[in-house]
Amino acid sequence: MRFLRSLERLIFPDRCLICGEVTRERVPFCKDCIKEFVPLLSAECPACGKAAHECRCGSGTKDFLFYYSSPAAKKLIRSLKHTPDKNAWEFFGATAANYFDKRRFDAVVFPPRTAKNIKKYGFDHVKQIALEYSRLSGVPLCCALERTHRAAEQKLLSATQRRRNALGLFKANAEKLAGAKRVLLIDDVRTTGSTLNACAHALRKAGVKQITQFTLAYTPPVKKKYKAKKV
Ligand SMILES: [Zn+2]
Ligand SMILES: [Zn+2]
Repeated sequence: MRFLRSLERLIFPDRCLICGEVTRERVPFCKDCIKEFVPLLSAECPACGKAAHECRCGSGTKDFLFYYSSPAAKKLIRSLKHTPDKNAWEFFGATAANYFDKRRFDAVVFPPRTAKNIKKYGFDHVKQIALEYSRLSGVPLCCALERTHRAAEQKLLSATQRRRNALGLFKANAEKLAGAKRVLLIDDVRTTGSTLNACAHALRKAGVKQITQFTLAYTPPVKKKYKAKKV
């Protein structure tokens, strides 16, 4: 197995998520960029200026690793979306496994990438991270969430209709959930929350009682006060 892994690394070397350099570190960052990544984990909220544990922006979960605001955070997410990187999938899967008590969950679920993007990039990074989380924690991976075709209609709708329509962007397969009541829902970025809200809505309809969301990055809604300060 170890030989295969070395061979795989030779053909597909691990790359730094921030600068793209080949790296031999056990984390998906080179020695220089780890210095950019670590501060991301303790950065203040870009909307209210408070530390992450004190920030009350938005209404959703606070279970995320870093704010999606600095150039390093944006580069990292862009690399994850564009380049297949087993080292990075393992790293974030392990981070989630360390973060949560696995006894809290019956299954781990994720919003699948669009078919168009899977075709374009050849992989679904969020699924891979969920898979690594599952492998490390022993919580079963459940591919129960599916995209519906409502996304295409979104453009033609009013804002209120759009919000209502957005809740139907996913459906959850109750058979695949096999009675799971408490799930960990993993995604890469939470922006408006519409994807995760739609997933949670679909999961509840399929009988899930407790949903814990976990994203790598989070964009808090910009508060007017801070908007005004900038001008
Ligand atoms: Zn780097
Ligand atoms: Zn905040």
